[in-house]
Amino acid sequence: MKSFAAELAYFVRGRARQNLKVLALYGLFLLVLILLYASLFRYLMLELEGREYSFIAGIYWTITVMTTLGFGDITFHSDTGFIFATLVTLSGVIFLLIILPFGLVSLFLAPWIEQRLRYRPTYELAASTSGHILIFGIDPIIRAFIRKLQARNLLFVVVTDNYDQALMLEEQEGFKVVYGAPTDAQVLRGLRVKTARYVVANLSDPENANVCLTLRSLCQTPVVTLVRDSDHQELLRLAGANQVIALPRILGRFLATRATTHGAMAHVLDSFGALQIAEIPLYGTPFAGKTLAESAIRQQTGLSVIGLWRRGQLSLPTPDSILAPDSLALLAGSREQLQALELLIGNPTADDLVFVLGHGRIGCAAATFLERKPVPFVLIDQRRSTSCRKHVPVYGDATDRETLQKAGFDRASGVIVTTNDDNTNVFLTLASRHLNPHIRIVARANQDENIDQLYAAGADFVVSNASVGATILMNLLDRKESAFLSEGMHLFRRPVPTELIGKTLEASRLRPELGCSVVALKNAADEMNTTPEPKTLLQADLTLLLIGSAEQEKAFDRRYPRTENA
Ligand code: AMP
Ligand code: ZN
Repeated sequence: MKSFAAELAYFVRGRARQNLKVLALYGLFLLVLILLYASLFRYLMLELEGREYSFIAGIYWTITVMTTLGFGDITFHSDTGFIFATLVTLSGVIFLLIILPFGLVSLFLAPWIEQRLRYRPTYELAASTSGHILIFGIDPIIRAFIRKLQARNLLFVVVTDNYDQALMLEEQEGFKVVYGAPTDAQVLRGLRVKTARYVVANLSDPENANVCLTLRSLCQTPVVTLVRDSDHQELLRLAGANQVIALPRILGRFLATRATTHGAMAHVLDSFGALQIAEIPLYGTPFAGKTLAESAIRQQTGLSVIGLWRRGQLSLPTPDSILAPDSLALLAGSREQLQALELLIGNPTADDLVFVLGHGRIGCAAATFLERKPVPFVLIDQRRSTSCRKHVPVYGDATDRETLQKAGFDRASGVIVTTNDDNTNVFLTLASRHLNPHIRIVARANQDENIDQLYAAGADFVVSNASVGATILMNLLDRKESAFLSEGMHLFRRPVPTELIGKTLEASRLRPELGCSVVALKNAADEMNTTPEPKTLLQADLTLLLIGSAEQEKAFDRRYPRTENA
């Protein structure tokens, strides 16, 4: 069944798809021709022979004549009628019996057979292959990861034991593919695992465990696995995986931190030693509507505002940036400073209530996170979870207004939209905005194509499965200690470039010339200065923690190339 679907998929891709359009046009032409003949038939019958036939009879006659079936139950008796019938038969022979089969064979069948005959799967890589990334198991996350690898011209190889998939990935998507079972030691040897840079195992948990064990018997190449069930994390580590990513848990946490108006400590996204990166929604805080300078966040708490999120756009703030109530401030500082902020903005938790729409793996992880804070929440799902025993969801279709209202939706301060269907998510976002205009809406995008629609529907924040997964994989590959902020925006660290030693932060002109901004400075003793002033001197033993896009990071490295020992 699976391979049949793969065959069908052939006809809707690439050249075959173009041909499908030609076929549809031809079908339309035949339809018009048949309708025309049927009308002419009725007219001639009535005019020449005085017999009246229905339109259905006209179509019946045309088709039996065009296909040369000619039952002879309805016939003309006049010369003009004979000429018309001959014309219909001849055009039937030409259009239906010659052009149509010929077209089908040459446009579809022949290229398909040709591809089958031509395709010879690769069973192993050249012995000299090295530095390559091996990928087992393809899904939207891995595809997003592959796009990043392609953008950086990194060599990757997809491994599959499904012949049709191998054919499709190689012939139609142009990937380098090896055909073989990833759990077979012989196959792994042929994949030159010893000299590979990295292995990404994205199969089922048991298969991943098997891959890790087999690999470990051969070499020490780092393996990262994406785990389906977060309870299996430890087992995969035991099997030899260097990193085990429980994506649903990470996504759930991302969604949950962004959905509450809970105090600042609830929004810690990542930490770098003593430095915490957190986010607070500005709505309802004393800073909303003020400029960054007027808000005096740094003077009052010591925290730096390193970014402002608004409808999915991250901007690096200047003192004149307005802290809009519908945006989030990205903060950097110590635990104590975040606690100071929490005191300052008060504790709005009393009326905090978050709706979680969809109690799948991600929704469940989000609920677990809220529970720990604790933030009160209501879970809604239309079916019973097979894996969760600790939550008590409301059963019902979340798109049903009554279900939401009965559960107290108008009291909610935030909603997490996390079903597995993006159309439903767009609809739920729209409905939430409509029912409760001030609610904080955090939505999940299962496919990247739908991110824009979710924002357009009124989401305050969209978390894309594929982007988060791909960015995490990319960061692991680069061995970067890097926090995921959004597509293309992250934190990175660099030693102070020699050219800048002795200059002040202001004189380094990093922000005006390269666009990236210094968030913190760390000295050799691992002490972090999270509030670097413009007059701070850049000393040789310092490490810069910067925020910026991938391009800005590249621009930094072009301007200040890294030396070997850096
Ligand atoms: P997962 O992809 O594992 O996070 O699962 C998504 C969850 O969303 C599943 O448990 C689905 O039952 C649930 N879901 C999908 N559509 C709806 C809907 N219209 N109302 C409520 N729950 C839904
Ligand atoms: Zn649960």
